[in-house]
Amino acid sequence: MISGKRILIVGGGIGGMAAAIRLAELGGQVLLIDIDPQWRVYGAGITITGPTLRAYRRLGLLDAIKEQGAIAAGSTIFRYDGLRLGQLDEPALEEGLPATGGIMRPKLHRIMQARVKALGVETRLGLSVSALVNRDDGVDVTFTDDAQDRFDLVVGADSIYSCVRRMAFPHMAEAQPTGQGCWRVSMKRPPTLESGEIYLGHRYPAGINRCAADMVYLWMLTPHVSRERHFTDDELFDALRANLADFGGNVGWVRDNMTRDDWINYRPLAAALQPGPWFNGHIVLLGDAVHATTPHMASGAGMAVESALVLAEELDRAEAIPVGLAAYQARRFDRCRHVVETSIAVGKMQLAGESPEAVGSALGAGLHRLAGDY
Ligand SMILES: Cc1cc2nc3c(=O)[nH]c(=O)nc-3n(C[C@H](O)[C@H](O)[C@H](O)COP(=O)(O)OP(=O)(O)OC[C@H]3O[C@@H](n4cnc5c(N)ncnc54)[C@H](O)[C@@H]3O)c2cc1C
Repeated sequence: MISGKRILIVGGGIGGMAAAIRLAELGGQVLLIDIDPQWRVYGAGITITGPTLRAYRRLGLLDAIKEQGAIAAGSTIFRYDGLRLGQLDEPALEEGLPATGGIMRPKLHRIMQARVKALGVETRLGLSVSALVNRDDGVDVTFTDDAQDRFDLVVGADSIYSCVRRMAFPHMAEAQPTGQGCWRVSMKRPPTLESGEIYLGHRYPAGINRCAADMVYLWMLTPHVSRERHFTDDELFDALRANLADFGGNVGWVRDNMTRDDWINYRPLAAALQPGPWFNGHIVLLGDAVHATTPHMASGAGMAVESALVLAEELDRAEAIPVGLAAYQARRFDRCRHVVETSIAVGKMQLAGESPEAVGSALGAGLHRLAGDY
């Protein structure tokens, strides 16, 4: 059913590119637009869990990710001072699929962008939409450069503050702050670090993941720091170093070896599972636009890629677009709800100072549920 259909995808991030790839492979005439004229992504690392690796395998990009990122058999949990507590219970999903991994976001984007370009998907940058009008058989779109066009389907993959959601889904609300903020630094690899490490038992949980042979990123979650003004990179560096003061193990190594030239970032967390329907006529939402989560389960990107695969599959077998969109939502809602709700719950446990064992087992149980197919 997709073959020959004119499809507009708003947002060329992880979910939008995954949708563009699969819809183009099925014969759709895809136009992908992104508001960023340079189509950039910031310089953090990203954790790619087993389910996310499985989704990327189905998208045909696993080998490139393995080559340019880092994969591991699992992650180890430590007490904040460096005492090893055990392994995180991460399920093995499929023959030949690593349990977990990581990659630098710019590399992941380049891998996906290369596939989008190789498929001949038309891409326009520095562009968004300013009006969407549903018709019986498609959507009339006005772009921010005042051009107008008609599409069979519009996919809103423009992330947590989605303009497509604001325009076409009045029953939905803005994502809500969860009370935590995430600090990240990308830097060279501690010499003894082989796979992911998670440090619990401190009021600020932290972790390190490999993203390439010689690179890692460290994350730390704190209660949200109210920022009435913009912090400079130097201030962020000093604040993160201070937050890491009590840590041992490789987190201590990162604290002592990070430099002011390393990429560093602080971001307050927000989340929202949007109520259905996730589609309105011939307009549909995907990724953080409709299931924005916090990074606790490191599954937001995986959910976006899975949603893109399911959207394409259901549209392809449906007799009419609204039928395919309803089937897409039916397959995705509970799984995405699980990720959003579990991630928020784990964040609350951390804010309440619950034990490393309780937090570790909530995370493990949450990840196990994602092992099931979608
Ligand atoms: C601190 C933090 C750490 C995270 N760590 C992980 C992790 O380790 N593993 C993991 O799986 N997930 C992680 N996530 C979640 C993950 O980043 C997201 O779930 C994922 O990127 C969602 O993909 P998306 O395509 O919906 O949005 P995005 O990847 O954000 O892409 C949205 C795109 O839309 C474009 N856009 C925005 N507005 C418009 C507009 N109006 N018009 C046109 N284009 C627009 C943007 O330029 C961007 O290219 C993390 C999230 C946070 C906040």
